[in-house]
Amino acid sequence: MTDTDLSTNGTPDDSPQPRKDLIDADPESRVNSTPIFEGEVDTDKTVVVCGAGGFIGGHLVADLLRQGYDTVRAVDIKPPNQWFQKFPQADNRSLDLREKENCYQALEGADQVYNLAADMGGMGFIENNKALCMLSVRINTHLLMAARDMDIGRYFYSSSACVYNQELQSTADVEPLSEEDAYPALAEDGYGWEKLFSERMCRHFREDFGVTTRVARYHNVYGPFGTYDGGREKAPAALTRKAIEAKIFESGDIVIWGDGTQTRSFMYIDDCVKGTQKIMHSDITEPINLGSDELVTINGLVDVIEEAVGVDLEREYDLTKPQGVDGRNSDNTKILQELGWEPPTALRDGMEVTADWIEQQMRVHRETEEVSVFALP
Ligand code: NAD
Repeated sequence: MTDTDLSTNGTPDDSPQPRKDLIDADPESRVNSTPIFEGEVDTDKTVVVCGAGGFIGGHLVADLLRQGYDTVRAVDIKPPNQWFQKFPQADNRSLDLREKENCYQALEGADQVYNLAADMGGMGFIENNKALCMLSVRINTHLLMAARDMDIGRYFYSSSACVYNQELQSTADVEPLSEEDAYPALAEDGYGWEKLFSERMCRHFREDFGVTTRVARYHNVYGPFGTYDGGREKAPAALTRKAIEAKIFESGDIVIWGDGTQTRSFMYIDDCVKGTQKIMHSDITEPINLGSDELVTINGLVDVIEEAVGVDLEREYDLTKPQGVDGRNSDNTKILQELGWEPPTALRDGMEVTADWIEQQMRVHRETEEVSVFALP
């Protein structure tokens, strides 16, 4: 595969454009838009989003508010001034969900729970913080126990493509991973094992205690209102930040972790928010892939970023840094069968919006000399 082979299958030219109204600087305007999720919902229900101060959680809270739910409870361990998005219309609570009693408090009166809370980050973070990643098992365990004891209607768990057997990801020209490829188990050390174990907890709480659980395996999610610096950022945001720094400081070069030939697929945030709710409201009981199947090399991703940022950079490859598996892609056969839908946003379109947003943030924070909440360690 060469640098110009951006994808194995591409995305159709008429793939939907990211909605700019959902990333307006004014939170009021973000929640007064049309929802991403179009299904019929009972807005009398109380919905809890755990990890609401983070990237995906913040976008999900916004979409639930757009749908008009009476009570959207947003929970995160971070202090309120560090949440990526915060909406006064939600019932916002700062709680450490590793603690059992906090989980019972968070879920009081809830009908639906989305568990997106985890101590996580990009490859640099999960490689160097395996124990911390595994301790997130306390969050899902205590939330499931609260869901069982409090008779919660539906429970969603955000798993990851890191559960897949690593031996199946040892070439860049990878076969897309289908759901059964998680077994026999050889998950990503630390983070991936915790996700696989927590998936199984969901399964057994469903089978043994009757908790209605739903599990999605997210494949790399990117978009505005996510971290881009500080050590937890993932490849799309990290490389975009470096490209913008090169533009601002006119350095002309970019350092890439690994040799750039690794392949991945990346899902735009709006597709993640839509797919998450589709799966939550479906009858799909087993873990299911939620990811784009537009495969790209890291070099190809840098091509897309250079175009979005408007730079042409000299590439330097740092082979001492963690680079993860050689190749990973999402097999979307099952989600297409079950939902007749798969994440449709083209990487080029999503990255254009994301790069604009990161550049705006970096320029504001450079002028004010404040550290952005999106750039905290
Ligand atoms: P994120 O780090 O932006 O959000 C996670 C949030 O959980 C953070 O705000 C964090 O403060 C909160 N949290 C951590 N520990 C907590 C605790 N003890 N109590 C309460 N809150 C706590 O991450 P994200 O990208 O929004 O990911 C959301 C979920 O999706 C995570 O479970 C993650 O593992 C999963 N996931 C994400 C991706 C991706 O590409 N972003 C890929 C696969 C899976």
